[in-house]
Amino acid sequence: MITVENLTKYFGNNLVLNNLNTEIKKGEIISIIGPSGSGKSTFLRCLNLLEEPTYGKIFIDGINILDKKSNRNALRQKMGMVFQSFNLFDHLTVLGNLTIGPVKLLNMSESQAKEQGRQLLNMVGLASKENAFPSELSGGQQQRVAIARCLSMHPEIILFDEPTSALDPTMVSEVLGVIRRLASDGMTMAIVTHEMNFAKDVSTRVLYMDEGKIYEEGTPSEIFETPQKEKTREFIYRIRTFNYHINDKNYDLFDLKSGIEQFCARHFLDARSIFRMQLVVEEILQLCFFEGESVNRCRLVAESGGLNISISYSEKNNELSVEFSTHKILETILNQVENSDGISINILKGIANISETTIDDKIILKAVIS
Ligand code: ADP
Ligand code: MG
Repeated sequence: MITVENLTKYFGNNLVLNNLNTEIKKGEIISIIGPSGSGKSTFLRCLNLLEEPTYGKIFIDGINILDKKSNRNALRQKMGMVFQSFNLFDHLTVLGNLTIGPVKLLNMSESQAKEQGRQLLNMVGLASKENAFPSELSGGQQQRVAIARCLSMHPEIILFDEPTSALDPTMVSEVLGVIRRLASDGMTMAIVTHEMNFAKDVSTRVLYMDEGKIYEEGTPSEIFETPQKEKTREFIYRIRTFNYHINDKNYDLFDLKSGIEQFCARHFLDARSIFRMQLVVEEILQLCFFEGESVNRCRLVAESGGLNISISYSEKNNELSVEFSTHKILETILNQVENSDGISINILKGIANISETTIDDKIILKAVIS
């Protein structure tokens, strides 16, 4: 369906796409992953000519769209694009957003376009919003409208550029749900995404881009389970972390718990893991700031510069853990656990594997959520 040959793009002296070659076949769902700045957006933008490639060829159904003689607009219409920032027409209603293209560019009648628009809204779960304006919708809803608008032009392939990265974590799954639905309907798609678990289970092929090239490509299991090349491996196995600093006992527990929830949701961890992590953090914090007759940890922790909490999720071994580190104070945190009334320690041991080490003048307590 699409063949790309030697696609090269310079911005000034900056070589952003370096002789890229690939092919997209009908029905394929291609995920494009890679570090920021590696040229993923530029690649999509060149495919549908939002950027003019410096040189190379892009064939769509056998016709080179970079050829001056080709009918660019007709060819472009075969490709829909969904952006990170939705790009809806703010002055039009939801239904207006879905009818303007078909009426102006596909010569559809107003009533046909409305009927089609309503069907599409139904498909993305927004049938009740046809008269709303984009500003009245949540980010997740706006992005679903943007997908419906894209479909209203009957594209043969849809290009998605990080469709969920501007969204609150709570809204990611509603948008991914719509994309999954398109996938099961057989739509050809190329999706730039940071949602690795999504890429893993929705795509038929994964392209890993680095420095303007397709550095490695393969099936999801090849790329995510047995990546062959060094940079791919590093990228796939990287560990993601969420850090939080607490100065003294007057920390904002709600803010911390909501941060944990957002971090976990981003990585598609289930509700049970989120709950367990929140509980472990809350319990350990209580121990850290324990105020007994002989020790006043509140003061000690505050005087020693507070406490760092670092939550990590490693995709490689699917491990969710949290580390508390603080300047060494009278006793270790675990000692406190052992001396406490026994309730906390039992809760903790039931849901996490806890260990503690002392490095130089720091204590680090690690809990791995089971
Ligand atoms: P990615 O989407 O993988 O993060 P991009 O394609 O956005 O990467 O960017 C690749 C490189 O191209 C970056 O160095 C970026 O600064 C540069 N770039 C992107 N768009 C433009 C532009 N319109 N003008 C100049 N430089 C650009
Ligand atoms: Mg980008």
